[in-house]
Amino acid sequence: MNNEKIPYKIYLTENEMPKAWYNLRADMSKKPAPLLNPGTHRPMTASELSGVFCEELVAQELDNDTPYFEIPEEIRDFYKMYRPAPLIRAYCLEKKLSTPAKIYYKFEGNNTSGSHKLNSAIAQAYYAKKQGLNGVTTETGAGQWGTALSMACSYLSLDCKVYMVKCSYEQKPFRREVMRTYGASVTPSPSMETEVGRKILAEHPGTTGSLGCAISEAVETAVSSDGYRYVLGSVLNQVLLHQSIIGLETKTALDKYGIKPDIIIGCAGGGSNLGGLIAPFMGEKLRGEADYRIIAVEPASCPSFTRGVYAYDFCDTGMVCPLARMYTLGSDFIPSANHSGGLRYHGMSSTLSELYHQGLMEAVSVKQTEVFEAAEYFAKVEGILPAPESSHAIRVAIDEAVRCTETGEEKTIVFGLTGTGYFDMMAYEKFHDGKMDDYVPTDEELALYRSRLPKVE
Ligand SMILES: *Cc1c(COP(=O)(O)O)cnc(C)c1O
Repeated sequence: MNNEKIPYKIYLTENEMPKAWYNLRADMSKKPAPLLNPGTHRPMTASELSGVFCEELVAQELDNDTPYFEIPEEIRDFYKMYRPAPLIRAYCLEKKLSTPAKIYYKFEGNNTSGSHKLNSAIAQAYYAKKQGLNGVTTETGAGQWGTALSMACSYLSLDCKVYMVKCSYEQKPFRREVMRTYGASVTPSPSMETEVGRKILAEHPGTTGSLGCAISEAVETAVSSDGYRYVLGSVLNQVLLHQSIIGLETKTALDKYGIKPDIIIGCAGGGSNLGGLIAPFMGEKLRGEADYRIIAVEPASCPSFTRGVYAYDFCDTGMVCPLARMYTLGSDFIPSANHSGGLRYHGMSSTLSELYHQGLMEAVSVKQTEVFEAAEYFAKVEGILPAPESSHAIRVAIDEAVRCTETGEEKTIVFGLTGTGYFDMMAYEKFHDGKMDDYVPTDEELALYRSRLPKVE
């Protein structure tokens, strides 16, 4: 369509920014499986869910049919402080790799939280405020989600209580202090503050915690405190909905120059950035309008897609949350202590799980030293110091570009660069000092966790 040279950065004007989120589920003929009540195994109703989540978010969570949700003006105004996120043509990387491939990345690290998580944090905080709540509770692992949520809550004057996985709380004091700067209270999990925390500590003294355990604590605190609800930074349908802003902006930017990607790549922890990035492209694929290769990248040490099973499982260790049907390793799976790269959740978004199950997307797992090699290579060539999570996508984007060098194919590759790695320098240090290993769980280990999955008819 357009012969001008593609700029290094394709920005959108404020006017071109999306005014509605896109709900990918509306275009799926087979919908993701519903959340189930952990006691009765019946689909969770809106009233059951609204004890835990804000009402509007429950409505978004359960809506498999409405294709677009208007973004409230207050949220659009907040987005304008740090969005649109640039879509960057990786000219320098292409040159360094001598590849005929054209590589683009959507950079979500241009805000203090350092990741895409702010896109959903502001939406969730907004609906909590609108409902007249006092505050929200949540868990955080590495700290990006907690930081994003504390920023959103302070903007809207909402209280924010964060349970932070204990090993991160100890290893990442900087993240903790950023959250406190924005007024959040941060508790290492498991803690003695909750029943489930006390139980887990009694059974596993000295445990350094897990995301699943922190979720249980945050949910317990939300349901037992007046005027509080629980919010979650990934996995849920509502989070994928909010994150569709990533894909919608990407698609608008590409369309401006008539660019059609061949391959779209994203890292996958709970699936929110990937689900958001691919949303409008997968929508076209589902409607038969276009075809794309879509690749989820996960750590070999926490391989939910590539080595998990598609089954109903608990979303948390304490088994207080609804059951979700997803690719899972089992809710008590905890990646090896040597794993530094994030993306450590045991399950995966039920929407992405269903799409993967239908063969509409691929998944690959990569080892962490390969990930950090890619991270360092990228930092040197493109300048941005990437988050370890994002570097999973970088790894596979580089691998695909190298394949193009070998075959001479001029593929267009788009990947999600979800954030920056300034708070992950301990992991980089381990890598530089050669102290990082590539532990991959054995089949026996995975079988053990799998045998503890709940039995759901
Ligand atoms: C949280 C996070 C991820 C993974 O979460 P998803 O829900 O799978 O997107 C990836 N990258 C960064 C920088 C993150 O903070």
